[in-house]
Amino acid sequence: MPARKQDRLVVRRHLRNVLFLGAPFVLAVVVALYALRHDRMDWFLAALVAGIAIAGLGLLRQESLFKQYRCPDCGDRLPNPPRKPGERLEYLCSRCDVIWETGFSESSD
Ligand SMILES: [Zn+2]
Repeated sequence: MPARKQDRLVVRRHLRNVLFLGAPFVLAVVVALYALRHDRMDWFLAALVAGIAIAGLGLLRQESLFKQYRCPDCGDRLPNPPRKPGERLEYLCSRCDVIWETGFSESSD
């Protein structure tokens, strides 16, 4: 029977992603909307490109955080079985005999 452990680092990494990518993304959207209202297409396009780049980077980081989850103890890449929406994101490390709980759930999209 594997032990259950809470991975607190994954929460911190997720919050860091939200803070450092979410805030600039919101800023890019606000700048894009402002530029659009004031007919500044150059600013609008720049903000749009920045927003898309930030969103892409954010998706990649979230992807590597949850789809390529690594055991916090041994660093092994753990299997990521298909889950139903709402199911908890937990990862079994057979080497350490630990089930890592992330505190997150599979998104419903
Ligand atoms: Zn491990």
